Amino acid sequence: MTDTRKFGFTTTILHNDRQKPIEHGSLHKPIHTSVTFGYRDARQLAEVFQGKQPGFRYGRQGNPTVASLEDKVNRMEDGMATICFATGMAAIGALAQALLREGDHVVSSAFLFGNTNSLWQTVDMQGVDVTMVDATDVAQVEAALAPNTRMVFVETIANPRTQIADLRRIGELCRDRGILYVVDNTMTSPYLFRPKSVGAGLVVNALTKSIAGHGIALGGSLTDTGLFDWNRYPNILDTYKRFATPQWGMAQIRAKSLRDFGASLGPEAAHHIAVGAETLSLRMERACANAMALARMLDADDRVAAVYYPGLESHPQHAIARELFAGFGSLLSFELRDDIDCFDYLNRLQLAIPTSNLGDTRTLVIPVAHTIFYEMGRERRASMGIAESLIRVSVGIEDAADLVADFQEALAG
Ligand SMILES: *Cc1c(COP(=O)(O)O)cnc(C)c1O
Repeated sequence: MTDTRKFGFTTTILHNDRQKPIEHGSLHKPIHTSVTFGYRDARQLAEVFQGKQPGFRYGRQGNPTVASLEDKVNRMEDGMATICFATGMAAIGALAQALLREGDHVVSSAFLFGNTNSLWQTVDMQGVDVTMVDATDVAQVEAALAPNTRMVFVETIANPRTQIADLRRIGELCRDRGILYVVDNTMTSPYLFRPKSVGAGLVVNALTKSIAGHGIALGGSLTDTGLFDWNRYPNILDTYKRFATPQWGMAQIRAKSLRDFGASLGPEAAHHIAVGAETLSLRMERACANAMALARMLDADDRVAAVYYPGLESHPQHAIARELFAGFGSLLSFELRDDIDCFDYLNRLQLAIPTSNLGDTRTLVIPVAHTIFYEMGRERRASMGIAESLIRVSVGIEDAADLVADFQEALAG
């Protein structure tokens, strides 16, 4: 086997490690724990460090086990190059560290993962202006653009309220203006959606979630799709311009962020994530079907005040989800009627586990306003459409009937 390009999504992942020789014909890339690497001689050492020969320098900048995962994620996203990080937040933080300078401007969706929202506040304090917009409306994104706008950042399905950015139109806008378009694909995963198809230049994945899939490893990635022309990006340092132009962005990110800030993915975590990725498609299909069944039951029950799930015809961006995604995702959220206490409700659930995290095999629930979105305060929560009683559900792969019964019986009190 020499070329997996002709194969489907899952076949490609399963057979990817075998594309390169592996010790003893091992079918998995082994867990390499060595921090340093050997060279034929001192000249080769120098050439590897100068980027003139392929090879590993030091564990912080790269490792064979991590590289094999980078290659897999890259294929999943149909990318040009991928870099892995210790967490999803480290991957997003890398954008700020490596690509933004004082005086730059970022346009971001206002419907964001809570810690990304907090990161933009940090970046704002450091002299980068961040404008938050309703990214379901491309006109708001366009109105926020300024001559110093360096990137537009959106999520696919926003956590927890499931708003879907106008992904295709924002892609067209960024292409016309020559602006870097960054899409956080975590909630869809590359199995349901490839941001490259709507013009994204960089794709973020929190590997911790659906790709690893079992809640046992943290990880994040950035993929360069090859669509963005780095000649149009003003903050590339001369030293990285010694490479071919398509490589400028990733060369600068690997050095300025991964190397200098050091949020590197460990080889053991990379291995867990790679094993999880093998069943991404199976788990996603099952979780999407379970989420749909759960959303329909909740939607039909008058003790539930609102249900947010892109698979429901009533969802404002249902048409976009149907057009762009291969499934409606494993995330849903809902509000109970005022006379039902959301803590009492959660305590009546037998299967669903009250905890954070997303994309686990088990169904997880969390009262959003009182936990993950507590720090931002009531006002900002309200502006993001987050009710005080909102419950987020990360739907797992349990048997559908068990799951629906659990949420239904808890409604009965
Ligand atoms: C979880 C998550 C992140 C951060 O990933 P970590 O691995 O937890 O740091 C970023 N974006 C989205 C959409 C997420 O759900």
